[in-house]
Amino acid sequence: MSDVTVIGLGPMGSAMARTFLAAGHDVTVWNRTASKADPLVAEGARRAAEPVTGELLVISQISYQAMYDSLGEARLDGRTVVNLSSGTPAELREAARWVAERGGTLITAGIMVPPPGIGQPGAYTFYSGPKEALDRHAGTLEALSAVTYVGEDPGLAMMFYQAQLFVFWSSLTSFMYAAALLGTAGVRPDALVPFVRELHADLASDGPMGYIKILGEELGSGVYPGDENSLHMQAVGMGHVVETLRAAGLETTVPEALHRLFARADAEGRGDEGIGTVVESIRKP
Ligand code: NDP
Repeated sequence: MSDVTVIGLGPMGSAMARTFLAAGHDVTVWNRTASKADPLVAEGARRAAEPVTGELLVISQISYQAMYDSLGEARLDGRTVVNLSSGTPAELREAARWVAERGGTLITAGIMVPPPGIGQPGAYTFYSGPKEALDRHAGTLEALSAVTYVGEDPGLAMMFYQAQLFVFWSSLTSFMYAAALLGTAGVRPDALVPFVRELHADLASDGPMGYIKILGEELGSGVYPGDENSLHMQAVGMGHVVETLRAAGLETTVPEALHRLFARADAEGRGDEGIGTVVESIRKP
């Protein structure tokens, strides 16, 4: 019997199947569009006529609906389904019930690297659901990435995944605004790269700009000291950023939203506190 069946052979599922093969596993593959299995079969994978085969099913598809469409009414008795697809926490919780009704166990997951990063050092995946089921298969799943268990609630893996993705996408988007702004003055985007790299390194550091750690502590304690850089000062400064972008002829959706959020926290009377106080406004829409 196969060690692992990979269901969904887009860029991610194909990279996973290939990585399992390279790690010496016996791999079965299934995809809605069957021809996508051809290269993997040539590399040693077994082609399945039906998706439900073997004890460990690893799914990488566009959504949880794709899992329902693929597995249909098949029983899942004794099988562990590890779904690494994107979805909402509510969808993941519902999927855990759906798999359990069919006799199987669902482990939910969010993988934190693009396909070329699968199996590479530094890769990690958030997993949630029943810990003992994950422990049983961790030896196989470790071929893909480090196994980072975040808790029993099936929705948690996607919450961690989306939290990280939100930080990732918003960081990259702010970089694009910054590059576009300097571009209006004829500055090449790569002129900005060393400064942005340094900023990110500083944010991750233990130094005075180490705001990731500092905010982590402040958000935990609910105390946001603003003696040296008040939120009010930063709300005013953010307003200047919006005006500058607008005057440069750029679109301002994201900076305006940021400014509105800062200004709201300021108007709520917390302008003397530090930037961390913005979280209080986020928590009360
Ligand atoms: P896609 O998200 O485009 O998923 C493609 C796969 O989904 C194909 O196997 C496709 O089958 C299948 N699929 C789509 N709809 C259905 C359906 N209704 N029934 C059955 N199968 C269906 O590509 P990726 O491989 O890039 O991503 C897979 C998952 O991994 C996604 O959830 C994504 O969010 C996540 N992910 C991706 C990353 C990346 O960088 N690529 C990074 C981290 C996570 P078919 O070939 O037949 O169309």
